[in-house]
Formats: sequence, C-alpha cells, structure tokens
Amino acid sequence: MPGVTIDKNHCKGCEMCVKACPQKILAMSKQIGLKGYFYAEVVDSSRCIGCMICAITCPDVAIEVGVHGTSFALFQY
Ligand code: SF4
Ligand code: SF4
Repeated sequence: MPGVTIDKNHCKGCEMCVKACPQKILAMSKQIGLKGYFYAEVVDSSRCIGCMICAITCPDVAIEVGVHGTSFALFQY
C-alpha cells in the first residue's frame, strides 16, 4: 500500500494538495504546525493509489510518497 508522509512543519496550509488528490483523501488538520498554519493530513490512507500528484503539486515540497519500497520526493532536505 502506498504511504504518504506530510511534513506538518513545512506545510503552509495552502490546500493545493487537498484539491489535487483524485481520491479526495487529504484534508486540513485542526492542529497548527510550527509555521503557524493548519497543515494537511491524510484522512484515509487505505484509498491512496500512490499517484504522487499531491507531492508534485505541493509548492513547499512537504509531501513524500512511498510506493513499493521506493520513496518519491522532489527534493531531499
Ligand atoms: S498519492 Fe495520489 S491518491 Fe495518494 S494522497 Fe497523494 S494525490 Fe492522493
Ligand atoms: S500543498 Fe503542501 S503546503 Fe499546501 S497544504 Fe498541501 S502539504 Fe501543505
């Protein structure tokens, strides 16, 4: 099963990933990260198809997607 990791302390709460996810399994948390924004989180990881659209969409490179043991990230910190 694909695994999506969202770095809540790099997320700026723009919601672009929430809108972009074709499975509609991302949502904004009611918690606030270190940047002072409500951050995105995965609400139903079992329906993730590993398409990586969320990671490609995120302007802050805060999302990493792991599929079949391979981890996809645009940049590594
Ligand atoms: S990998 Fe695709 S299906 Fe999974 S959370 Fe990201 S956009 Fe949604
Ligand atoms: S696209 Fe990136 S910065 Fe915007 S809400 Fe999603 S994880 Fe946060």
